[in-house]
Amino acid sequence: MTALLEVRDLSKHFGGVYAVEDCSFSAAEGQVTGLIGPNGAGKSTAIDLMTGFKIPDAGTVLLDGTPIAGRPPHRISRLGLVRTFQSPREWPGLTVLENLVLAAWNGRRERFLRSLRGPTKKEKAAAADELVRARQILDELGLLGLRNERAGNLSGGQKRLVEFARIRMARPRLVILDEPMGGVNPVLGERMATAVLGFVAAGTSVIIVEHNLPFIERVTDQVVVMAAGTVIAQGPFDTLRSNQAVVDAYLGEMPTYDGADA
Ligand code: ADP
Ligand code: MG
Repeated sequence: MTALLEVRDLSKHFGGVYAVEDCSFSAAEGQVTGLIGPNGAGKSTAIDLMTGFKIPDAGTVLLDGTPIAGRPPHRISRLGLVRTFQSPREWPGLTVLENLVLAAWNGRRERFLRSLRGPTKKEKAAAADELVRARQILDELGLLGLRNERAGNLSGGQKRLVEFARIRMARPRLVILDEPMGGVNPVLGERMATAVLGFVAAGTSVIIVEHNLPFIERVTDQVVVMAAGTVIAQGPFDTLRSNQAVVDAYLGEMPTYDGADA
């Protein structure tokens, strides 16, 4: 199986700090790949390097075989790789539904601007289709009842789900989620899990950085473990429990979970 994303020997230092060093791993199409490790392991820096927000000192990143490291973020997102940040970003003054429709238009700004001057029949039909799709996605994520609410009024977890819904509108090949459970009420955990799995069902593969290990266990097919800038293990979550290097670097700090409180 060829990897959708392949990271090879990636390195980035800040002065004397080697944030990422000789980091290599791959993420398969149609899967959820977890990226875990202690604070300071280099996970967020690795995401920045994969998505164009930082330029690597060395190494390559291949998206479906195309080298992308060092390209600007907007070029990488146009190739189908998008990311979220540790806090969600929405248009707070617009409604939930408006946020989604604008996300759909975002990639086609020129056509959107032209349509404001007087949309053609085809453009009107396309906009109507996007509206139908937006409602379907909101329904799937349990947000349909909030469609007319201003996005800025939502809870942290609801904003995160709206962000997922906006990414669904754009239909990327791969999304990288940086700590999506951070600041989210645990009662939303099951809906967040459904939303992550919903990406894969809709054709978007996922890489997820998350400290909530029951959540990682619940949603991932493969897990990559980073420590001190490099990858120390990759495999299904349950194979990592018995990996002494992983337990020493990370899992040993954490209580054992049964997944029920995810
Ligand atoms: P993680 O996301 O796994 O917690 P980070 O990628 O944020 O790890 O950080 C990895 C290491 O790089 C840490 O030691 C951090 O202090 C350092 N680091 C990250 N960004 C910078 C920066 N812009 N300048 C200096 N050091 C940084
Ligand atoms: Mg981080």
